Amino acid sequence: MSTLTHYKIIRPLGSGSFAKVVLAEHNITKQKVAIKIIKRNKVQDENSLRKIEREIKILQGFHHPHIIRLYEFIETEREILLVMEYVPGGELYSLIERNGRIPEKQAREYFQQVISALSYCHERKVVHRDIKPENILIDEQSFLKLGDFGLSNFIRDGIFLKTSCGSPNYAAPEIISGEQYCGPQVDVWSVGVLLYTLLAAYLPFDENNIPALFAKIKAGRFNVPHYFSVGARDLIRRMLNTDPVSRITIKQIMEHPWYKANIPLHLKYTEAIVDHDRIVDCLGALQANRSRKEIFEEIFNKCLEFPEFQGLQKEQLKQQVLAKKQDSFTVTYHILLDSTLKVKRKLLNQSEINVEPIFQKKVGIFMIPDDETIVSSDCTSSTESEKSNHPMPHNWVFGFRCAISAIRLVIHLFESLKSLNMEWKFLSEFEIRVRSVGFEEQKVGEDLPKYVGKGVKFDIKIYKFNESFILDIKKVDGMEMVYLDTCASLYKKLNGSVPIVRKRSIDIY
Ligand code: ADP
Repeated sequence: MSTLTHYKIIRPLGSGSFAKVVLAEHNITKQKVAIKIIKRNKVQDENSLRKIEREIKILQGFHHPHIIRLYEFIETEREILLVMEYVPGGELYSLIERNGRIPEKQAREYFQQVISALSYCHERKVVHRDIKPENILIDEQSFLKLGDFGLSNFIRDGIFLKTSCGSPNYAAPEIISGEQYCGPQVDVWSVGVLLYTLLAAYLPFDENNIPALFAKIKAGRFNVPHYFSVGARDLIRRMLNTDPVSRITIKQIMEHPWYKANIPLHLKYTEAIVDHDRIVDCLGALQANRSRKEIFEEIFNKCLEFPEFQGLQKEQLKQQVLAKKQDSFTVTYHILLDSTLKVKRKLLNQSEINVEPIFQKKVGIFMIPDDETIVSSDCTSSTESEKSNHPMPHNWVFGFRCAISAIRLVIHLFESLKSLNMEWKFLSEFEIRVRSVGFEEQKVGEDLPKYVGKGVKFDIKIYKFNESFILDIKKVDGMEMVYLDTCASLYKKLNGSVPIVRKRSIDIY
């Protein structure tokens, strides 16, 4: 286990109930970190110690763009030190206090980030139980980071929690009534209060004395300001439903139109892409919503370049990282990984996209009807010249070229396939087999094909060509016309989701 010799303390950042937080620099990467210093003599009661241990246990395994990262904890005779990600922008609470009402667009962005963080916690059977703007920090990119898991607890199936916790203004009615509660729904209530507070700059439930406050919360009585949009109003009403059973769930919130509007790419696709490990490999920016089983070679190799680690056994270091050890190499790897992912996330959300179709050498027999489709001579000539020097796959059926980043291409491809009710599996790193949901294969000896009218099965291969990517689509099974129709829909979907910079045409043969 490393000691504080790996960090240079810069200045104090603040102090909490039983801890002091300081800004420090990690000597190897020169990245800033925040170190929470807990004096053992200040946490003599068992309960507080348990809270700290619980926070460490929870944060240790977490890796999410909107949850404060814990890189390592160091125990000495007198102190417990938590080395965490440094979040420089202060508390969300101070922002509201300073600026008053947050514009709805910004409030939604914050809300989406908190919901995404909570969804991550709940999936891992952790309920936060103390969501409030004081426990949320803002980073330099205006990203929120949920912290303070001191009150959080593990949910065990079928076991209700009883501890009354959190701040009274944010507490759900079932908590203040002392009823048993199941966990996730109390976080939903608190985020409902948070969203209201972001939009109004005051609390939905507020009274000078606790009994009056509790009465208001239990009755679920609150006024909705006239300037709340219809969508926000509807969502808040559903979240501040006093009945935890019929209260909207995190999953339903994520389906709500108000939540879904303008969702940033790094949140929109993380979960969808989580299932596709290989693609995740090329999509570093999107990985951070899960604990990885693989290593980012790029980051790993950068770490090896530091003088501190030269001459060390590469394989052993890899094993240390995979085992999530707390040695100085693993900590360095994670600090560097996070700073790299931060940059990638930013680029991902800013990147421009355009799609350009590819022209086929063979004679087209089918022209996809598309209002905007115009075969343009300049388009044809430029692609003709490219074709001649590129080893295109000779068995193409349908294809087009996308001058976008690999991340955006795959994201849009998956999104389009999903909306066409398709499912897929990986055949190789750059090839997927796609089929209509419910597609049934024809068995040997069967007269009538089962797939009649039931969709298709095809392969999509992705090729890199100069600075762009080419999608090669080849039918595997199903009716020709259904296949062509699906290709046309896919093309339209992909085109619809990205701005087109050139006139285009598609030939299918
Ligand atoms: P509390 O016990 O009141 O919840 P903490 O002990 O978690 O507070 O933190 C005290 C103060 O230190 C916070 O208000 C915040 O200003 C600062 N702080 C805590 N963690 C970080 C961090 N990771 N990055 C930057 N500042 C932090």
